[in-house]
Amino acid sequence: MERQGVLQQLSELVGAAGVVADPVARQAHLVDERQLYQGQAALILRPDRVEQVAGILALCHEHRIGVVPQGGNTGYCGGATPFDSDNQIVICLDRLNRVRQIDPVSFTMTVDAGLVLAKAQDAAADAGLLFPLSMGSEGSCQIGGNLSTNAGGLAVLRYGTARELVLGLEVVLADGRILSELKGLRKDNTGYPVTQLFMGAEGTLGIITGAVLKLFPAPIAIETAWLAVADIDAACKLLGLARQASGDALTSFEYVSGASAALVLKHIDGARAPLDEPYEHYVLLEFTSPDAHSGLRQGLERVLAEGMDKGWVLDGVLAESGPQRDALWRIRESIPEAEKHAGGAVKHDVSVAIAAIPEFTARAAAELGPLAPHRLSMYGHVGDGNLHYNLLAPAGEDGAVFKAGPGVELSHGVHSLAVSMGGSFSAEHGVGILKAPDLLAYKSPVALDIMKMVKQVLDPHGIMNPGKIVTNV
Ligand SMILES: Cc1cc2nc3c(=O)[nH]c(=O)nc-3n(C[C@H](O)[C@H](O)[C@H](O)COP(=O)(O)OP(=O)(O)OC[C@H]3O[C@@H](n4cnc5c(N)ncnc54)[C@H](O)[C@@H]3O)c2cc1C
Repeated sequence: MERQGVLQQLSELVGAAGVVADPVARQAHLVDERQLYQGQAALILRPDRVEQVAGILALCHEHRIGVVPQGGNTGYCGGATPFDSDNQIVICLDRLNRVRQIDPVSFTMTVDAGLVLAKAQDAAADAGLLFPLSMGSEGSCQIGGNLSTNAGGLAVLRYGTARELVLGLEVVLADGRILSELKGLRKDNTGYPVTQLFMGAEGTLGIITGAVLKLFPAPIAIETAWLAVADIDAACKLLGLARQASGDALTSFEYVSGASAALVLKHIDGARAPLDEPYEHYVLLEFTSPDAHSGLRQGLERVLAEGMDKGWVLDGVLAESGPQRDALWRIRESIPEAEKHAGGAVKHDVSVAIAAIPEFTARAAAELGPLAPHRLSMYGHVGDGNLHYNLLAPAGEDGAVFKAGPGVELSHGVHSLAVSMGGSFSAEHGVGILKAPDLLAYKSPVALDIMKMVKQVLDPHGIMNPGKIVTNV
């Protein structure tokens, strides 16, 4: 069949309402969140049933048409961007957005993959429970995108990454078959855990269409503190202290450099400094408990008193209300937006062992300084050993020129250093197209071989998200 005829058939599978035709609407699907890539695609489809997704993939498999799955398109590595106007289509999951079932006895929720993360959180809250995955993009990113990138976010310390929040998956394979493993069992040792393959696969092995998610008791007591700390070493030591003192109650432990906080205060409307004077290092930490009488405030105050005695904590404020808590979190969550206003950053998402973070930051400063002038915006999920070591153009210089020029060498320096210290060049944002060369450079040859073999078996014609992570054709 002529290519045009196949495209016509694909459009008919979803009907007129499922085809994005308007040029402005199309553009939103063709450019990535960071505007690093301008993509192109033959079609952009919005199926509203799993069977439609299956039909589309069966046709694409038969006719060797590349398929780029897309969730909220908030990914940081260009993974959801298509690159071929003749031979690639986008499948956007946004119309597959139902909460299929909430089971408060089993503490599970079964959802469509196109459900926006914030809506999943709301649905859990409406049932008096918690779905703990949380991140700055939660108003737009989708469960399918979260699982496909194995997203991290702000509560990994306590609840784990997206992968750890899943009890079952429904996936349409490259050839159109549907893998339906939605039993939601907490125990099921019956051979290879096949669903695990699709989490973190960034749409290169199949399209996730549904998931059974774990729910938790909703927190009733919440204590949030914004602290100035002596340095990043003190931040890491304070983390240990807070964990020892609170056990499971420590939900978030975020580091924010003075430079990142200053960007927010400068560029984000309504952002206010929590403390009277500026410091070079801050920590935003949160204790939560489903028990209203858990004594969290006293526990937090003990941690702060000991932290101050040891010289780790210099100053701080505790949130006294919900709006105050929101204002503290807003500073942390607005950093990516503030970086955009400041001309954009060469972003890094590295991880090392928590104990190695001070050495990493010291060596990075020493090694990158001589390479090229830059401004540093460093923040991240220190409780997970995960730092966003972001580099901006020197004040007054063009961000785009910096990113395409010295930013490339600087970026290589950051990734090499993290890997040389036993860390990862991509802790939570994935690989996509942006970091595919890093994967080849840093992943062990054996692991790479296994990845290529899996790709070959599950997607023999290489139609799933071509060019992302690894290729087999
Ligand atoms: C302000 C901001 C803050 C962020 N904070 C964090 C953070 O704290 N932690 C974090 O991990 N990330 C963070 N991110 C990155 C991003 O939001 C996450 O990677 C998120 O999980 C992507 O979800 P999405 O629905 O937007 O996926 P998309 O960007 O649409 O896609 C991401 C990848 O998944 C694939 N994909 C999408 N849906 C499916 C599906 N249903 N089946 C198969 N493959 C699919 C795509 O092909 C692509 O490869 C942040 C982004 C922004 C803009």
